[in-house]
Amino acid sequence: MQKRLTLLGSTGSIGESTLDVVARHPDRFSVHALTAHRNGDKLVAQCLRFQPDLAVVGDADTAAKVAAALRAGGCRTEVLYGAEALVHAASSGQCDTVVAAIVGAAGLAPTLAAARAGKRILLANKEALVMSGQIFIDAVRDHGAVLLPVDSEHNAVFQCLPRCAADEVALHGGVSRIILTASGGPFRTREPSTLVNVTPDEACKHPNWVMGRKISVDSATMMNKGLEVIEAHWLFDLPGSRIDVLIHPQSVIHSMVSYADGSVLAQLGNPDMRTPIAHALAYPDRVESGVAPLDLAQIATLTFEKPDFERFPCLALAIKALDAGGVASAALNAANEVAVEAFLARRIGFMAIGEVVERVLNALPNTSAATLDDVLAADASARRLAHGFVDKLSSGASSTPPAERIAH
Ligand code: NAD
Ligand code: MG
Repeated sequence: MQKRLTLLGSTGSIGESTLDVVARHPDRFSVHALTAHRNGDKLVAQCLRFQPDLAVVGDADTAAKVAAALRAGGCRTEVLYGAEALVHAASSGQCDTVVAAIVGAAGLAPTLAAARAGKRILLANKEALVMSGQIFIDAVRDHGAVLLPVDSEHNAVFQCLPRCAADEVALHGGVSRIILTASGGPFRTREPSTLVNVTPDEACKHPNWVMGRKISVDSATMMNKGLEVIEAHWLFDLPGSRIDVLIHPQSVIHSMVSYADGSVLAQLGNPDMRTPIAHALAYPDRVESGVAPLDLAQIATLTFEKPDFERFPCLALAIKALDAGGVASAALNAANEVAVEAFLARRIGFMAIGEVVERVLNALPNTSAATLDDVLAADASARRLAHGFVDKLSSGASSTPPAERIAH
């Protein structure tokens, strides 16, 4: 039967890769809704091509422009805007599959709505799961939703796991550990003392993957791997102590599962998100994704090393937040979003990202994350605190007299 999709964040890197796979299989997949934030032009082009029932954007202005362009192009797609419209698109009875590819906390409400509507959810938006943790997993279980990981590491783990429920993998599946691989990002070997000066463009230049700017910065700080440890904890129901991070600069092994009998299963492929996307879209079938076959003889060497927690304090902070439980992961995520945005806007330096996150975690009392309100309150408090620290750091930087800056 054909799957009918809502694609949240269709104009982003994951969104575009998803549509590339969808276009290869018109017999299997069709599009109910596409959503974007402000990139109306790209959304219009996607609507003209995929003819969805619904398009959602962030504000009234963009909606009016998109609607006019679609009318002019003879396209009958309805155009809505705002947070409620996103929830509507994600929970509509007209779709069975929701691809969650919005970046950051903005994706939480629609992705949770998809879980509560019992959809098949293809999860790229790791921040939503990191924030809401047990609440999200409970919603999936209680409403008969299906959660399929798109993040390449988690998709790899999923492919290497035995087919039993998440809470049974350790007990009955014989799984002893999960090994998440990490490229180490663009600064794996850079002289640490020079990291204070890196620019947003340098931080976004990932050696192996082309991604949105927020996740690219997260990869450079390795906060991304930290968020992925938390994501793996919730997806596969293993404690943080049984989730390892292994640096593998070639990004060919996307992750591994280690079993009680000494076996280690790995999933390999070229670093192209269309592979995990195609896997999750067609699961349990396999379909062509457009990704070139892996040529191991040409790659020749695969290397591995331990992560350097001193060079990458964000990785250590995320693991600490997972251990702390409660709202710590939600606070970590919120502080990181604020800090990364400030770094991309050139308000704070690269090394200040971890500093802001650490200060927020130290300043915010860790409370229970029993309800969504608990999580949203912690998210809001962490953002307030993080903005305060960013203001202090950025005004500190600009108040430094020029002569002093030169002298240092
Ligand atoms: P991106 O920045 O390229 O795209 C983000 C999408 O979200 C865009 O369509 C944008 O319009 C939309 N969006 C942004 N802010 C929004 C808001 N406030 N409200 C509604 N929509 C909004 O990001 P990306 O690289 O595609 O990443 C998307 C998600 O997938 C992230 O959570 C990221 O961590 C995860 N992910 C990405 C990759 C990758 O290779 N790009 C790999 C694994 C996981
Ligand atoms: Mg990943």
